[in-house]
Amino acid sequence: MFAAMAAPVNNPDHGFCRDCLTFQRSQTRRCERCGSPRLARHPELYRLHLAHIDCDAFYAAIEKRDNPALKDKPLIIGGGKRGVVSTACYIARIQGVRSAMPMFKALEACPEAVVISPNMEKYVRVGREVRAMMQALTPLVEPLSIDEAFLDLAGTERLHGLPPAVVLARFALAVEKEIGITVSAGLSYCKFLAKIASDFRKPRGFSVIGEAEAVGFLAVQPVTMIWGVGKAFNATLERDGIRTIGQLQQMDRGDLMRRYGTMGDRLFRLSRGEDVRRVDPYQDAKSVSAETTFDTDIASLDELVAVLRGLSEKVSARLKKSGIAGRTVVLKLKTQDFKLRTRNRQLNDPTRLADRIFQ
Ligand SMILES: [Mg+2]
Repeated sequence: MFAAMAAPVNNPDHGFCRDCLTFQRSQTRRCERCGSPRLARHPELYRLHLAHIDCDAFYAAIEKRDNPALKDKPLIIGGGKRGVVSTACYIARIQGVRSAMPMFKALEACPEAVVISPNMEKYVRVGREVRAMMQALTPLVEPLSIDEAFLDLAGTERLHGLPPAVVLARFALAVEKEIGITVSAGLSYCKFLAKIASDFRKPRGFSVIGEAEAVGFLAVQPVTMIWGVGKAFNATLERDGIRTIGQLQQMDRGDLMRRYGTMGDRLFRLSRGEDVRRVDPYQDAKSVSAETTFDTDIASLDELVAVLRGLSEKVSARLKKSGIAGRTVVLKLKTQDFKLRTRNRQLNDPTRLADRIFQ
């Protein structure tokens, strides 16, 4: 289909249709060929090659695919008496259900929701299928989790006969057709902005953030959009009167570093849209974990210690199975009121021994 429409890819005025994948010569709001409103246009559309792809409501989308009766129902994947929401479908999200929300709260917000407990084996399988399709586009695929990855499509134009932007759109259509779930894609010149872009118009989104607009775009965004600014650090910034990325853009590097150490340097660079991190396909599996949720509160240390021993053995078994070892042991504890506490300890040498992890 595309070959027939010899690509005017050097003309940035020419967008393309994300449904029939034809180039658009005019500036109409709908596709000249198929009438779809899903047109991609951007001055840098054919120059950018760094992408972030994220599946939409991944677990929920898979369950809906496998049971069409759920299609128009609010669906929550999660469970257990004490469980939290793993994924909510978009119908449930409209009613206020969010990931990581305690189940009882989710059901308060959306009492008619269908709840399914996660089938991780199935999700891992589908995640691998999606990843294999990504790896057919470029060897530079860096997974961030089961359902999202960075892709560097630089230099793939000859292989595909298409610019990266169109390859991405074609990929999204192929995933829908072959796997039966949807994805959102972000395209930019760096990882930081590609990831932000993919989150923009979910589901079935396709967003582009170009180099020329990066600083202006970032200026009006909240500091929490910066990778590494979590709740605690955001509170620190807020105490200092800093809320927007634009405020960071006005500060100089020395000042930021004096105030916030190495994080200050990151704030300086990312606030200006400077991110030189490369897509690294070997970054897979950075942690191995095991966890459990109690049906009732446990206050006895002896009981908790026994549970921790079991979890340490599980982690050890998983490390051994993957032939790897870990150096940082992290313990997470969620309290009755769903507050999360974490503690971590660095070992001198990597280990996979249950006893060492437990200690
Ligand atoms: Mg996702």
